[in-house]
Amino acid sequence: MNALLQTIYDRMAAADCIMLFRHIRVDGDCVGATKGLREIIRQTWPNKQVYLIDDEHSDYLAFLGPDDEPVSDAVYESALGIVIDVGSHERISNPKYALCRELIKIDHHIEHDPYGGINWVEDWRSSACEMIAAFYQAFCDRLSINTRAAECIYTGMVTDSGRFLYEGVTGETLRLAGLMLDQGIDTETLYAHLYLRSADELRFKAYIYESMQLTPNGVAWIHVTGEIQQRFGLSFETACTAVSSLSDIRGVLCWLAFIDTANGEIRVRLRSRFASIHTIAEKYHGGGHACASGATVSSVQEMQALIRDADEHIRRYKQTHEGWL
Ligand code: AMP
Repeated sequence: MNALLQTIYDRMAAADCIMLFRHIRVDGDCVGATKGLREIIRQTWPNKQVYLIDDEHSDYLAFLGPDDEPVSDAVYESALGIVIDVGSHERISNPKYALCRELIKIDHHIEHDPYGGINWVEDWRSSACEMIAAFYQAFCDRLSINTRAAECIYTGMVTDSGRFLYEGVTGETLRLAGLMLDQGIDTETLYAHLYLRSADELRFKAYIYESMQLTPNGVAWIHVTGEIQQRFGLSFETACTAVSSLSDIRGVLCWLAFIDTANGEIRVRLRSRFASIHTIAEKYHGGGHACASGATVSSVQEMQALIRDADEHIRRYKQTHEGWL
């Protein structure tokens, strides 16, 4: 048995109260992992208090069930905090994590900020949900799972791995996904929640293909301005999905979506294949994974500088590597 996982299990077993935390700009992985673990804790230890409290929600993930109602600071102070899928502490969505008497970090981002008293970080994992599934598997003789927990965990595994497409997917990923499916998930309904689109969203996709820009060395990018968001009636969340439309262009090893935010900054979503691009995200106030990172720029000039950096990065990559497509 992995000693770190044993320590985490022991801390959970000993705690009367557990608070779960995730990252800002929620996604399927951080929501699935926190809700999945919450359900496992409820099933295993019905007398423990367990809370997941966050101001931020996501409509398309509402089918995974609600968060909990706010509680007093005293509850936080008595709790073991478990932060899942958050690389750096500034990105924890509920700032009251700092009140917890002890903090465990469970994460699959490249480690820069070991903010937990206990840090279980495996950046080779395709999702944080995969780690929760592995945790369940390690203690399956002592932990209880149900369909609801498995559905949450499977959702994060599917969404963060691009439906098991990305590089981080291993044989273990699929075996753990199988373990979740064995709990009786209704995948037809789950995929309908995740992947059906409105006609307007598909029109926006058509706009992306019409308007995307390509740099000389193979970086595709799109700027989803505030005006475009208005024209297509897009929520910010939907506007941010633009990046995934750019993923399948032959010879384009890096693709970027720039999305205007309400506070005047521009959110950047960076994706790549073969070449890693997290160093570019880190240069522009961000970070993340080798081939999926996020950043923020404050002006169109800074956006252009980031595009130039990405283009140069890909030029050098192509010059020094073979076999990319
Ligand atoms: P996103 O494009 O926002 O989905 O981000 C891709 C990955 O990078 C996710 O795993 C995020 O957690 C991570 N990420 C996004 N923005 C930041 C940031 N500003 N700092 C560190 N990591 C980030």
